[in-house]
Amino acid sequence: MKTQSIEFDAGLIEKYNRAGPRYTSYPTAVQFTDAFGPEDYRAAAERSNASGRDLSLYFHIPFCDTVCFYCACNKVWTRDRSRTTPYLDRLFREIEMQGALFDPARRVAQLHWGGGTPTFISHDEMKALMEKTRAHFNLLEDDSGEYSIEIDPREATAETVRLLRDLGFNRMSLGVQDFNPQVQKAVNRIQSEEETFEVLHAAREAGFKSINVDLIYGLPYQTRESFLETLDRLIAVAPDRFSVFNYAHLPELFPTQKRMDPAKMPSPEEKLAILSATIDHLTEAGYVYIGMDHFAKPDDELAVAQRAGTLYRNFQGYSTHADCDLVAMGATSISLMDNTYAQNLKDLPDYYARIDAGELAIFRGVTLSRDDEIRRDVIMKLMSNFELDFAALGRQWGIDFNDYFADALAALEEMEADGLLTLSADRLEVQPRGRLLIRNIAMVFDAYLNRKPARYSRVI
Ligand code: SF4
Repeated sequence: MKTQSIEFDAGLIEKYNRAGPRYTSYPTAVQFTDAFGPEDYRAAAERSNASGRDLSLYFHIPFCDTVCFYCACNKVWTRDRSRTTPYLDRLFREIEMQGALFDPARRVAQLHWGGGTPTFISHDEMKALMEKTRAHFNLLEDDSGEYSIEIDPREATAETVRLLRDLGFNRMSLGVQDFNPQVQKAVNRIQSEEETFEVLHAAREAGFKSINVDLIYGLPYQTRESFLETLDRLIAVAPDRFSVFNYAHLPELFPTQKRMDPAKMPSPEEKLAILSATIDHLTEAGYVYIGMDHFAKPDDELAVAQRAGTLYRNFQGYSTHADCDLVAMGATSISLMDNTYAQNLKDLPDYYARIDAGELAIFRGVTLSRDDEIRRDVIMKLMSNFELDFAALGRQWGIDFNDYFADALAALEEMEADGLLTLSADRLEVQPRGRLLIRNIAMVFDAYLNRKPARYSRVI
């Protein structure tokens, strides 16, 4: 069986730790331009209909009741619940416009509500959103789709969870970050363990198939010991997956981050100690490393798919549904349609005005060249399955892989010498000590890095 082990090597992490993309897309959003608009998207939707591929739907609910200072998401901070009405009005019209572009027979294999806080909207609004979606897209009624939602436990009760299950959701990601009261105060996210566990237990009882917990390390007042306390309390209730994110302090880009004192944040050494201990605790508890920041139980579908070589990476992280076109709706959301990416307007007034004018809200995007598509495939395969089969890729894309990527393969030699990966004439295999540095390995295949200045978070 393919190994899913991971080796923590502080020296190598320090050597390779530079800023880089997270590769939820390739090319990354830095390459999107406003030369791409609704007409390009409609043409891509038509091409995608010819493919008959399954669809993935994403809905962005941008509102949050309070702001977590560390947050880099696109959200609207408000206590005014009535603001959801004008937003959902436009979202419903966007669903009608988008739905009209696609062959109604295409199955929705994946669906995701993200934010912001998706459960900021009322129970009635949740029902109406799902009904509207069902009226315009072919939702699967047999629970075989991957229908997931991000939950802030402060904004959900056991009743909310049961309703979501009735609406068709079967996977959930819980935002926790840290249970420590001093950390919670410093990041302005006060969330009791009781709230978190109520939602988690309710999700289990309601039959959610997979429950993920999000944690962040690098926040003020966190230490190795304090973080492990949170982690161990969560391991005790055995969620199916953990996402353990590295906090990136970029206050020039995300102004609320200025409200946290960098002097109170753990040093780079302490952060590495937190990461190392986290890996130890999760591994001892039986979780395997999926990639990037994700860990899963060995029988979780992500871990199973990775062993089978069928894991995929998209805007929501890792997925078992490889071949979907993604229709993203709501302000700021990004669609992946055939060989394009298309992003909606970010500010609500702009988004509303465009939808009110009867037009799709796309304001920028990119059409991938053939080279982009080849590189995207290589990068996503690396990030998901930690290996490349050169002959298979060559057949798939009609290239001689070793020729096409001669520069990249030469650039990997140092990483090979450092034990991050092994290279042979026909394969690249990432080794346990290279897994944490998978972004660095993927970056070698990125044709855009170093061409255009961009701000990325550090790899670790
Ligand atoms: S972390 Fe989640 S709940 Fe907090 S501000 Fe960001 S989107 Fe809102």
